[in-house]
Amino acid sequence: MSRKNNPLSDPTRRSPETQLVHGGTERSPFGETSEAMFMNSGYIYPSSAAAEARFKGDDPGYIYSRFSNPTVEMFQTRMALLEGAEAARGLATGMAAVTTALMSQLRAGDHVVSARALFGSCRYVVEDYLPRWGIESTLVDGRDPANFAAAMRPNTRAVFLESPTNPTLELVDIAAVAEIAHAHGAVLIVDNVFATPIWQSPLALGADLVVYSATKHIDGQGRAMGGVILGSAELIGGDIHTFIRQTGPSMSPFNAWVMLKGLETLNLRVRQMTESAARVADFLGQHEKIARVLYPHHPDHPQYELGKRQMRAGSSLVAFEVKGGQTEAFRLADALAVILISNNLGDAKSIITHPTTTTHQRLAEEVRLESGITPGLLRLSVGLESADDLIADLDYGLSQI
Ligand SMILES: *Cc1c(COP(=O)(O)O)cnc(C)c1O
Repeated sequence: MSRKNNPLSDPTRRSPETQLVHGGTERSPFGETSEAMFMNSGYIYPSSAAAEARFKGDDPGYIYSRFSNPTVEMFQTRMALLEGAEAARGLATGMAAVTTALMSQLRAGDHVVSARALFGSCRYVVEDYLPRWGIESTLVDGRDPANFAAAMRPNTRAVFLESPTNPTLELVDIAAVAEIAHAHGAVLIVDNVFATPIWQSPLALGADLVVYSATKHIDGQGRAMGGVILGSAELIGGDIHTFIRQTGPSMSPFNAWVMLKGLETLNLRVRQMTESAARVADFLGQHEKIARVLYPHHPDHPQYELGKRQMRAGSSLVAFEVKGGQTEAFRLADALAVILISNNLGDAKSIITHPTTTTHQRLAEEVRLESGITPGLLRLSVGLESADDLIADLDYGLSQI
């Protein structure tokens, strides 16, 4: 066949846009166009000897969907090709991915350093759960890499961070922290949900593992939960594969299929949302009732230069503080007609969240305030509606303050 010599027959030679549509696709003998959903838990073997070979690892075929399934594998391969990772594993949720990444790398007696600005449940795992199992954790202000260096101990085995952070969109210098982690023999795990694989590539910046909640932009249409961990074949195929195989935080083939269809449009959706988010940030930045707007590629962002250096664009989330406090923030949110009050993000539908009273209400007030989560702060996830409508919606909301 003439296509054998076509350079694009090698999947690694294709652009990210092409990976999102074709990456990892394996067709059954029926030759279906769209990815097939293999909604099965087990597999049959042609003979007892074949079963033996498969369990021994001499035959690479499937055994049981807790740890391998063709639809989940298509999702994993597509994600790995997009991210430029050697390997990936799909998980049931983003939190299953974060917990698996940490638990597979750490054991009792180890120490983990984490940026303190984290998604609520991630902070819970690092601050409350890991110490229960004899793994000490230190939380630092992630904006200055020197704080990570100062917190490292001889038994520090992992460094964990997200950038931009939830909900204040602070940035962490991933390349600088990777260097610090590696100088101490620790792995760097980056939660890349807010930036998305379209705008930031932590592995290229030196991270060892990248985690996503696929529930967010990858599905992006409010349908299914999912997560994914990406990294070297050694890390993923070793401790991480074993942890998933033996403990079972596995991804459902149905959810993997939903995520595969989500990936086909990820690039288009994230680009459109980002273009609108930048316009919304500009609008809010010049509004007299707004005290500050936080958007990674907006000149008002305190870490604007770092944002320009490590992110290809500012992504789809905008945080802003209304003058006044909670009463004014509630008044704005409650007057919106298009933007919905919810706590999800990365969705086609624009969503506004008041972190102080929802996602971060568990934190003590002084901890919230030191992280910049003030009563007037709102987090906006910009969706796929008309940017003109979103700005008009916010303009009306602001007029009600
Ligand atoms: C949502 C989210 C998670 C958790 O993902 P789930 O799919 O909800 O379990 C982790 N980290 C960040 C930054 C998130 O936004």
